Amino acid sequence: MDVAEEFERRLQTRLGGIGAAARLVAAGQAQMLRGLAGFAALQAPREVDPPGVFSHYAPEEVAATLRVSGASARNQLYFAETVVRRLPRAVDALAAGIIDLPRLRSLEHATSPLDDDVAAQVEAWILDRGPRKHRAAFSAACRRAVIRLDPDGAKDRADEQRRDRSVRIEADEDATSTLIAVLPAEDAAACYQRIDHLADIIARNRDDDDERTRDQIRADVLVDLLTGRAEHAAPIGCEIQVVVPITTLLGLGHEPGELAGYGPLPAAIAKEIAMRPGSTWRRLLTDPQGTLIEVAERRLPSPAQVRHIRARNRQCTHPTCTRKATRTDTDHTVPYAAGGPTHTTNLGPCCRRHHRMRHQPGRLWKVRQPRPGTFEWTGPAGTTTTTYPHNYLTGEEHLSACD
Ligand SMILES: [Zn+2]
Repeated sequence: MDVAEEFERRLQTRLGGIGAAARLVAAGQAQMLRGLAGFAALQAPREVDPPGVFSHYAPEEVAATLRVSGASARNQLYFAETVVRRLPRAVDALAAGIIDLPRLRSLEHATSPLDDDVAAQVEAWILDRGPRKHRAAFSAACRRAVIRLDPDGAKDRADEQRRDRSVRIEADEDATSTLIAVLPAEDAAACYQRIDHLADIIARNRDDDDERTRDQIRADVLVDLLTGRAEHAAPIGCEIQVVVPITTLLGLGHEPGELAGYGPLPAAIAKEIAMRPGSTWRRLLTDPQGTLIEVAERRLPSPAQVRHIRARNRQCTHPTCTRKATRTDTDHTVPYAAGGPTHTTNLGPCCRRHHRMRHQPGRLWKVRQPRPGTFEWTGPAGTTTTTYPHNYLTGEEHLSACD
């Protein structure tokens, strides 16, 4: 055996030892959980006790045995009693070293709002598909399974949590405080992305003597934005990806959606976000197996698209309007909400007045874009007037009435 082979063999031996030790630890933890649950079962609550699954004074003896606080012993007893009763297959998997204790905690946490039957279904779903690559993936899989198997409950819990959104402040040590915002996940992602985007611009354009870390810059940007103490670029480039299975979007299924960087969303919430007109997210449609089938257009045109249409139509496209395109909104000819794409062939400059006019309820004015840059406006009386793109040879815009 040469030196390299010998070295490799020693590495393999060490790795094998680490794996065996991890299985031993897991088996020991399973034994501990079963011991605690068995102890709890022998300590039924007495009449004088407050309601509970074991006697009010059971934790003290465990605390003395394990040399931990009473509160810690109580938590361990509760956890052990719960998982041994509700998630017995998962405890078996821990005993066999297939999952570890952190994964069991994730499963227990995810299933805690469910009744015993649905919890057992989630347990089976998760264990049938293995321990996953790492704990984060396992936890996300647990949450996804809960949403899949209890869609209505997941929606109700999400609604409740989202209703409880809040901002609060907590005083810390050393002249600092923590500002906490509890937000709908997509809003939090959009806020963070804007802050990070601006921090990125600042970091790339700063002077040599600006030695702030990226964390420091983000903190400064947050304060700038909220207090208005410094100006920042308009919000362009923020984009949260919301993944929605097409069956969910069509109301044919309850497959969970997904928010990039966050994880699974209840079907109803993902669908609601995907249908909501918004400027900060992009909808990704998948088939029921999760394969991407369509990336939705952005609602907000890119700066290049805006430059293009403002050069193509140098004024508001309404026939009577002379407002310069540089001072207009960018209007979707077929509204975005009606499925109109964010393409230059479906965009035109439109002043605020005429933009509002054509989106009035009842839509008295109708507009079509039969060719890129050519707009047919039809008024309430049925008269159609066409405006044309700027002609760079003659330097004029055509205007002709028909009908
Ligand atoms: Zn106008």
